[in-house]
Amino acid sequence: MVIAVDGPAASGKGTLARRLSAHYGLPYLDTGLLYRMVARAMLDAGHDLRDAAAAGDVVSRFDEGAFAEEALRGREIGEAASVVAAMPAVRSGLIARQRRFAAQPGGAVLDGRDIGTVICPQAQAKLFVTATPEVRAARRHKELAGRGEAAPFDGILADIRRRDARDSGRSDAPLRAAEDAVVLDTSAMTVDEALAAAIAIIEGRRGPAPAVPPHGAVTARL
Ligand code: C5P
Repeated sequence: MVIAVDGPAASGKGTLARRLSAHYGLPYLDTGLLYRMVARAMLDAGHDLRDAAAAGDVVSRFDEGAFAEEALRGREIGEAASVVAAMPAVRSGLIARQRRFAAQPGGAVLDGRDIGTVICPQAQAKLFVTATPEVRAARRHKELAGRGEAAPFDGILADIRRRDARDSGRSDAPLRAAEDAVVLDTSAMTVDEALAAAIAIIEGRRGPAPAVPPHGAVTARL
């Protein structure tokens, strides 16, 4: 089963996707990290983030193993990732590795912005996880503070609004819910409540379990 989890920045989709991956025993890919890696590589090489030719070159040669996750999680790199992610050369260069990940036997959980719409339109379960900008900013504020990267709440809220506008307004694979996605608003939910709601949605999509008679009954009939 492929589970696509899309949604805006700090909506809780990463936490939820990780919990779903543990629940169903499926491998998990945080596709935002790929865009963050491209941004990191562009910055490290001294390129302008909007240089499409340089970005295409970086994507064609980049090595996922070369980045420590800590160097990708900061506030600025998220912003830079959303700038490089608007370029078609970057998006198209990352499609194959995401689809390869999703095609593993047994399936996978992927989170991002365009998993249900572009990367895995055939995913069996699609969730669009969202929350109000204020709730998302509060979550990001807490997460950054936990990592010692304190920042004023208003600045984080402005970041989130800017990122929403850029991710939703780009012409290539804009952030939006797939037509067959279920929208899960986690504004008033704890992580456990969001997980329970997501599992209920996924199980609803999978339909009722086939009515297989208990093993003993089958044996007795044979
Ligand atoms: O999810 P995360 O905040 O790590 O993503 C960073 C940026 O990467 C997003 O703001 C978005 O612009 C971009 N992204 C994307 N498509 C994805 C995942 C992330 O455009 N599937």
